Amino acid sequence: VGRDPREEAPTLAWGIDLGGTDCKVGIVDSSGRVRAQTGFPTPREPAAAVAAIERACRRLAAEAGVRIDRAGMGAPGPLDLDRGVVIQAPNLGWRGVPLRDMVAAALGCPVVLDNDANAAAYGEAWVGAGRDATVLLLATLGTGVGGGVVAGGRVFHGARGLAVELGHQVIVPEGRLCSCGKRGCLEAYFSGHALDEQALETIGTRDGRPTHKELFERYAAGDPLVAPWMEQALDILARGVAAAGVLFDPDRIVFTGGLTRSWDVFGAGLVDAIVRRMGPAGPQAQGIVLTELGGDAGIIGTAGLALLDGGSRPRESS
Ligand SMILES: [Zn+2]
Repeated sequence: VGRDPREEAPTLAWGIDLGGTDCKVGIVDSSGRVRAQTGFPTPREPAAAVAAIERACRRLAAEAGVRIDRAGMGAPGPLDLDRGVVIQAPNLGWRGVPLRDMVAAALGCPVVLDNDANAAAYGEAWVGAGRDATVLLLATLGTGVGGGVVAGGRVFHGARGLAVELGHQVIVPEGRLCSCGKRGCLEAYFSGHALDEQALETIGTRDGRPTHKELFERYAAGDPLVAPWMEQALDILARGVAAAGVLFDPDRIVFTGGLTRSWDVFGAGLVDAIVRRMGPAGPQAQGIVLTELGGDAGIIGTAGLALLDGGSRPRESS
């Protein structure tokens, strides 16, 4: 008598969300529920980072009394998805790190690697703010601006895994210099880094270094040192998201990332501007929403990629 094939289906995976500052590790089940999680500051050295990930994974599994035979992992890009290599991670100072195979060797199981924005998009599409959407466009508003598209249950990677670099669309011809070397990228105007730079240029250092929350509050209050450039930055963000929306025709657009903590200040205006720029083709205002998974989107999404094979091609290593 053959075994029920459902018994063979994996029901648990490690989800690993490696960020430039912090790393989160979780155990996620096949319904997208986080069973356990932990986090730690990301070690700057790749071998030390992998060792810390292995310790965290093994401890979580031991505490939960479970055996886990697969893992998904998100990392800052750009990545070589076929080879599982971090081509460059500026915040960590990494270049050419074969991260997927290093983690697979440490854990003794297959690992699926994807970029952090794609992983978060997959999590939201699976069990978050886009679970009933056909095409989800995710925008991460953090130190930089990332993007991801999940269509029909699969991450859209492009030919080389570089698709949907939302923050590096050139919106302003010959505009501000971006960290990528181009001029006029969205991310050079609206991102945690760009807000800091523009605040330094206009407010200077006489008020200390204002937090992003304080900058949004000063914008809302009409502060003449902040309002003009913040308004321009928000307009540029709306243009970039709307342009991606016109190209991918999403029925849900989801915003996440640290800057969305000030969503009550800029969210309504941003949604209006996106709807206006997309015209009748786009999702209307009710389809443009905040994350439901918040900071857990990465571990849920990466585990989902490992459990459900949401990638567009084989990218596993064992
Ligand atoms: Zn750029």
